[in-house]
Amino acid sequence: MSEPSVFERIVAGEIPSTKVFENERVLAIRDIAPKAPVHLLVFPKTGAYADVAELAAGDPALLAEIAQIAQQLADEHCGGQFRLVFNTGADAGQTVFHVHAHVLGGGLTEASL
Ligand code: AMP
Repeated sequence: MSEPSVFERIVAGEIPSTKVFENERVLAIRDIAPKAPVHLLVFPKTGAYADVAELAAGDPALLAEIAQIAQQLADEHCGGQFRLVFNTGADAGQTVFHVHAHVLGGGLTEASL
């Protein structure tokens, strides 16, 4: 077994976070190092999927649910318009290998991922 990811540890309550959404299968939190005025992370509670391609293959309904939750959060936090980013692979900037969507909004610049 590999070490639990930081997001699994957040789900387990071992690491504090600012939660903005939670249901049975999905958690959303504020990013600890925001790259935009609104920068949220939406991820499955399970750590079974390392990236968006694995999630799309393994549980496409869960990927669709994450996209819908992203819209709901953008409606609440930044007027409904947002950038949805799944960094996939270390060369693309992925540092946590537990699939997560970045929801960015509220006035984006080129530096926002
Ligand atoms: P990525 O680089 O796409 O894998 O994204 C990982 C994201 O997780 C980064 O934007 C980090 O700032 C964020 N992050 C890492 N640890 C935490 C944490 N404990 N709480 C909230 N966000 C975190």
